[in-house]
Amino acid sequence: MDFTGKTAIVTGGSRGIGRAVCLELARGGANVALCYAGNEAAAQETVKAIESLGAKALAVRCDVSDGAQVETLVNETVKAFDRVDILVNNAGITRDGLLMRMSEADFDAVIAANLRGAFLCMKAVTRPMIRQKYGRIVNLSSVVGLRGNAGQVNYAASKAGVIGMTKSLARELAAKGVTVNAVAPGFIDTDMTAAMQEAARTAVQTSIPMGRPGAAEDVAHAVAFLVSEEAAYITGQVLAVDGGMAM
Ligand code: NAP
Repeated sequence: MDFTGKTAIVTGGSRGIGRAVCLELARGGANVALCYAGNEAAAQETVKAIESLGAKALAVRCDVSDGAQVETLVNETVKAFDRVDILVNNAGITRDGLLMRMSEADFDAVIAANLRGAFLCMKAVTRPMIRQKYGRIVNLSSVVGLRGNAGQVNYAASKAGVIGMTKSLARELAAKGVTVNAVAPGFIDTDMTAAMQEAARTAVQTSIPMGRPGAAEDVAHAVAFLVSEEAAYITGQVLAVDGGMAM
C-alpha cells in the first residue's frame, strides 16, 4: 500500500494493534501521529520504530475521552504535517465483570474510552477531511460487539456502538470523498488479552476455527487496506479479522 504524502492519526498507537497499524502505515510512507494514555516509554518506542522505517512520527499524550485533548491532538498533527488524511480509532480498554458485579464506574470508563473517544476523534477530523474532499476513517470494533460476551456487557456495548457510529457517519460522508469502516478483531495476542486468566484464554482459543490467536499485524494489514486508495469504493463495512470466529 502506498501512503506517500498522507498523514495518519492512530489513537492508542503506543502498543499492541495500534503500534502495528502505525508501522504498517509508516512502511507505506505515511507521516504518523500517535496518541497514548500514559505509557510514554512505549509511545517513544513506536516513534523510533516509525522513524527507522524512514517516516515521520509524532507522539501526543491524549485521553481520547476528553474533547479538549482530542482537539489538541488534531491541531498538533496539522501543525506538524499540514493535514489529516487517515484516522484509526484504535484506543480501547476493558473492565470485565459479570453485570451483577459491574460497577457504574467500570461501565462508564469503557464507554468513555471506546465509544465517546471514537466519537470525539471522528468529530475533530471530519471538517478538515470534508474540506480536502478526502479522508479515511477506520474504527476498531470487536467480535464481542457482533456477538456479545459474558462478562463484557460494557465492552460489547461500546464495540456495538462503534459499529452503529461507523455506519451512520459512512452515510453522512459517502458523497464527500470520506470513507468510514470498522474492523472487528477476534482474539489477538496483545497486552489486553495477556491480562486474561489462562482458563478464559483457553476457552476462547478453542472457539477459533483457525485454532490460534491472531497477531497485531493481521489486524494492521486489514486496516491498511481499508485506508488505502484501493479501498475507495468501500464504506460502512465491518471487516472481521478473527480466524473465522464470528462467521
Ligand atoms: P492494548 O495492547 O491494551 O493497547 C491499548 C492502547 O490504547 C494503548 O496504546 C493505550 O495507551 C491506549 N489507550 C487506552 N486508553 C486510552 C485513552 N483513554 N486515550 C488514549 N489512548 C488510550 O490493546 P490492543 O489489544 O492493542 O487493542 C487495540 C484495540 O483493538 C482496542 O480498541 C481493542 O478494544 C480492540 N480489540 C482488541 C482485541 C484483542 O484481542 N487484543 C480484540 C478485539 C478488539 P497506553 O500505552 O498509554 O496505555
